[in-house]
Amino acid sequence: MKHAAELRLGLAADLYYAALGREAPNYLDILYQWFGELLIAEEPSDGEDRRDARYIDLEYRIHAVRVHERLYIGQDKRVTQIAGRLIGTAKGNREKERKAAELIQKHVAGLLVNNPENVLYLQENARKQLDLLSEDSLQEFYEQLGEYTEDLVQQRAAMSREEAEGEPFPMDDEVFDQVLYNAAYQLNLTSCEGLVNAWLWLLCGSLLRNECGRVTRVLDSSWINVYREPSEDGTLQDRLNYLTHPEEYIYTYSGDDLEKRFPGIEWYCDACRAHLNDQPGFDDHLSVWKCTACGHENRIDITEIYDSRQDYEHERPSDPAKIEEALQRRKNDEK
Ligand SMILES: [Zn+2]
Repeated sequence: MKHAAELRLGLAADLYYAALGREAPNYLDILYQWFGELLIAEEPSDGEDRRDARYIDLEYRIHAVRVHERLYIGQDKRVTQIAGRLIGTAKGNREKERKAAELIQKHVAGLLVNNPENVLYLQENARKQLDLLSEDSLQEFYEQLGEYTEDLVQQRAAMSREEAEGEPFPMDDEVFDQVLYNAAYQLNLTSCEGLVNAWLWLLCGSLLRNECGRVTRVLDSSWINVYREPSEDGTLQDRLNYLTHPEEYIYTYSGDDLEKRFPGIEWYCDACRAHLNDQPGFDDHLSVWKCTACGHENRIDITEIYDSRQDYEHERPSDPAKIEEALQRRKNDEK
């Protein structure tokens, strides 16, 4: 199956339904299936009562009843328009509904940023849906996500500024890049958890668009200064190349502080995350440093160095040999 390379909820969701071997359901069902109560309040019903779905302004949610297993949309043009915009495939120039969809994006981003329970809710929910795929379908889905991610990156790189700004919900490069990088990073872990998270980054990026920037700032911030060369030119494509082919890159250290055992490395407490380099008496020649803030004993060792916070969280330490090499090269330069 060939998909259009645009970051839209409807197109992303199609990948799942194709793997599942089913037709995509209606807009409300798609929104409910992946975002549940964050977007839609299901009203009690006897299953036959066809009440039009309606959008409640200050609640930022659509209310709907279920008829024969499906959420019932009905005749309310406003709901159709708003849901269509969130799905990203509806055409039309109704500014009022576009505005409402934008408020929903802000609202949902706020729910994710302010309450970690909501993130767990989305993960749990996505995991359940992915569990419905057979092993083969899951593999197919995984491959499709990889392709989709790559296509999105290329498509975006080929887009002119006018095109990017002319999208219904324009995304800043920084936000787009971070969402796609996070998705690729999680896919690259080749784990079930990674797949769920990659999928959620794509879903959240397509639903929340630029508002997803707030989410990336909370769920992904690098707090270790790195001295590797993470990319040649800083483009997303180059960062992804580094992610998938780290063996082709080398670490470099260009600083002057060669007195230290690990120049350029910032150390953080494993227990409370205090910045250890700033603590009085800290010396990286010590093999263990007791954090003055919480008392935790941190090992100061080359095997405890990570390129980024994600690498730390996923227990992927940097390559000690490469770090040694980088330091040796720098020391040789000095001579
Ligand atoms: Zn501490």
